[in-house]
Amino acid sequence: MSNEHDAPAPVIEPAALAALRELLDNASPPPWDTGSRRHNATVLATSIAEGGVAAVVATFPWHHDARHYTDALVVAALRNAAPALLAELAQLRTVAADYDARGDALAIATGALSDLREKVTDHSAAVDSLSSENAQLRLLVAELTDDDPCRYDHHGYCQAHSLDEAPCPHARAKELLAESPGADRG
Ligand SMILES: [Zn+2]
Repeated sequence: MSNEHDAPAPVIEPAALAALRELLDNASPPPWDTGSRRHNATVLATSIAEGGVAAVVATFPWHHDARHYTDALVVAALRNAAPALLAELAQLRTVAADYDARGDALAIATGALSDLREKVTDHSAAVDSLSSENAQLRLLVAELTDDDPCRYDHHGYCQAHSLDEAPCPHARAKELLAESPGADRG
């Protein structure tokens, strides 16, 4: 069995994925959004909360290069995209497993085809050899066969060819040479 079609090892192990899913299930539901800036901090809030009022899930303390705001955006974007990312990852892994299985099947079929071609080649060589031998035998039989017609006596023996019993071998040889075109087979 070839390994060349095997899917790559997962970067994220199934256990880590399961832990991530559990975290997401227990966290505040999406969508999350960056809320107001107040007291030199950026507020990260869920947009859906009881009574339709956004609930604060985290605050990001002010940073001189505005990283507090970017960090809030990153957390919200990751939270919102996580379900779709996990779903797409699951789809891709299913496709990869299917591709892997098809690759294995293809390797098996390719091996079988290769074996078959080898047998056909062997068979073809045997046919060539037999055809060649058949052609030589036909030539030899033609040379050995007497052109004179058989003449049978009243006991059924050919008087033209050493009193052979009917059907005389010369008659059978002429019949065979006339009806079998085997030497012409490629
Ligand atoms: Zn005869």
